[in-house]
Amino acid sequence: MTRVALIAHDDEKPEMIDLVREYEDVLSPFDLVGTGTTGKRIMEETALDIERKQSGPLGGDTQIGAEVADDRMDAIVFLRDPLTAQPHEPDISALLRICDVHDVPMATTRTSAEYVLDGLAADGSE
Ligand code: PGA
Repeated sequence: MTRVALIAHDDEKPEMIDLVREYEDVLSPFDLVGTGTTGKRIMEETALDIERKQSGPLGGDTQIGAEVADDRMDAIVFLRDPLTAQPHEPDISALLRICDVHDVPMATTRTSAEYVLDGLAADGSE
């Protein structure tokens, strides 16, 4: 089963909701994981079911990174706020690094997220 993590910083949560609404049909067969608040918002505003980890500042990014290290994750959509420093910046850098190590695609913008999700959808229909 394709497993995808969804994470958005506060400023980017509206963009994440918009994206998952547009891609709801693509995402619904996937196994979805999210950081705490992002996952809650997505479940409130769509019919998608999300396995919620801790909120980012409480270790959610680290929990998702651990799944990447275990080769359990196929892709991550991480809509980051590029303008505001986050208190859990070290965890975010660690997540980026472990995705690079394991060649797990991480999309950090709307357009790159669309390409990654389109790619996963195409893979699934082969
Ligand atoms: P949140 O965490 O979804 O709990 O807000 C996201 C993050 O800041 O990593």
